[in-house]
Amino acid sequence: VKARTPRPVLDDPVRSDSRGSERSAEAIISTVLRVIVRLGGTTGVDGIGIASAGLVNGSTGTVVRATNLVGFDQPVPLLELVRRRLEDAPDGLRLALGNDVNALARAEAARGALEGESDALVVALGTGVGGALLLDGRIRMGPRGFAGELGHVVVHPGGRPCGCGGHGHLEAYVGRAALELEARRRHRDGRSTLLVELAGDRRISSSVWDRALGAGDAVALDLRLEAATAVAVAVGQASTLLDLPLVVIGGGFAPVLGQPFRTEVERQLSDIGGAGAPLLRSAALGDRAGAIGAALLVAR
Ligand SMILES: [Zn+2]
Repeated sequence: VKARTPRPVLDDPVRSDSRGSERSAEAIISTVLRVIVRLGGTTGVDGIGIASAGLVNGSTGTVVRATNLVGFDQPVPLLELVRRRLEDAPDGLRLALGNDVNALARAEAARGALEGESDALVVALGTGVGGALLLDGRIRMGPRGFAGELGHVVVHPGGRPCGCGGHGHLEAYVGRAALELEARRRHRDGRSTLLVELAGDRRISSSVWDRALGAGDAVALDLRLEAATAVAVAVGQASTLLDLPLVVIGGGFAPVLGQPFRTEVERQLSDIGGAGAPLLRSAALGDRAGAIGAALLVAR
């Protein structure tokens, strides 16, 4: 396979009021194509599975909305745009698109922390917060494909603004991007914190989080405690409602928050009560879970 030279953005059916958004959607599609080439192209390949953050409609191949991807604040027909750019693709090449956390859950169910389990909630902590539901041994998709979107359930009515436009959502308390905004807001309000003092104008990296938490930085510790409370509230309600005995926590930000975060979530979950606190387990497949799950989308 060869990736064609990117055609002018306006030829693509990615419509946006802002040219910046168009360029960004185009940049992500070009990256997808570069990855396909780097992995050896499509010769001898049955299909390509793609997992994306956000609200994803797998049956139309569209990312409906992904607030943490610039350029995806409106529907992007991702599979169609990728297919048009694949040259020499074999006949019958299947393309599949799914939500990234559903893909993670699918992979963990096939060969990871959910192997042999039939009912569980998966929470992925990253730039945002994603969720997936395993019910009766199947990933629950919902009629619009949006089931399991734990990041946008309300944990504090009228609370912090969320990237989706809502308020008080879980993601606003646990998502890495939201915590960075909140740390900078507290710093501007006069609280000193290593999170901002070490990072400066750059992104607050995992190593900065490690150093701030390790040094007992009060803002970092407060944010982690508030994050644990928010997760316990959201997870507690979901597990009570759906009788879920198991919660798997994954995503790249989970190890940064670390064992004290997990211990605090467990403590608060047992305080909440309900139908009995679910067991907490760490995801087993790490960063590759999304890619493995995406491949499984094609294998179905
Ligand atoms: Zn939200």
